[in-house]
Amino acid sequence: MLALAGCEAPRPRLVVFDGETMGTTYTIKIVGTGADDGALRQTRQAIATVLQGVDDLMTTYRPSEVTAFNEHRSLDPMAVSESTRAVVELALDLARATRGALDITVAPLVDAYGFGATTPGDLSAIEALAAIIGFQNLTINASGALVKRHPGLRIDLSALAKGYGVDRVAEALERQGYQDFMVEVGGEVRARGHSESGQTWRIGIERPDAARGTVQRIVPLSDLSLATSGDYRNFRLVDGRRLSHIIDPRTARPIEHRIASATVIHPSCATADGLATAMMVLGEEALELAELNGWAVMLIIRDNGGFVERQSTTFAQLLASALATSS
Ligand code: ADP
Ligand code: MG
Repeated sequence: MLALAGCEAPRPRLVVFDGETMGTTYTIKIVGTGADDGALRQTRQAIATVLQGVDDLMTTYRPSEVTAFNEHRSLDPMAVSESTRAVVELALDLARATRGALDITVAPLVDAYGFGATTPGDLSAIEALAAIIGFQNLTINASGALVKRHPGLRIDLSALAKGYGVDRVAEALERQGYQDFMVEVGGEVRARGHSESGQTWRIGIERPDAARGTVQRIVPLSDLSLATSGDYRNFRLVDGRRLSHIIDPRTARPIEHRIASATVIHPSCATADGLATAMMVLGEEALELAELNGWAVMLIIRDNGGFVERQSTTFAQLLASALATSS
């Protein structure tokens, strides 16, 4: 950047950082900062470090804290980082709040159905696996260590890790004084302040078609997160049947219903991410539970070759007030 003596350096209007993390991509947009090149380089590095840190702790694809816990075939408590504990704690809270629909102990089933780090397992062993699965078999003790109630218990944090990464990046940006930004990891988003056009950030919810990139609905998002879970992209074909990567822990089977995607808006992106996955599991029950808890949920449901949309009351209210106040 050229800075002439006595002149103020030009203010970059929009800075975009992108890259790969957690088996997907990320994009971070920061607007109207007066930060110089050096400060922006540091910010870029800080973002990469935060995301790498979350991935390094929670991946199931290489040695990590989660894989160490999964290989820890003992009922003795295992101490973990504050980050891993925080994600497990949130996951257990959401498991209770969603009648067990979100359950990070489904890891052995995720692997058996071929969506994990290992080659697909023997599906005839599913019945046996079901005995060790259940969030009640996992606790956090008084010192914050993780405790298994069954030595074979394993966890998979994929349903919340991306959202958690988004939250951590957003917090880091806030600490550095940035006020207008959008953080996105693998489709989970958190936005604060305004976009480069001076308006509230507008986030598109994808239409769950095979064709990518068609927008079903645009949501103005201010100081909130939005996460979507769907079964239209990540699935395996087995004997001509579609196997979803989302498992219903209560039946030990991949979900099979008409909901193509579930979107949740919440201040915390980790919560939005976890709840979106839970809504996919709950199927027809999802809206009932959303109403009971005041969650902002939007479902896109397959209907006669097309799609219909359903919104919880809180979602509809958020959307209406965002549309009314967004400038
Ligand atoms: P995506 O990765 O497509 O954004 P999600 O956030 O919905 O999807 O997370 C789905 C992932 O979570 C699956 O690939 C699997 O690893 C894990 N998983 C599947 N079913 C469940 C479940 N019922 N509870 C918690 N995690 C699950
Ligand atoms: Mg999720």
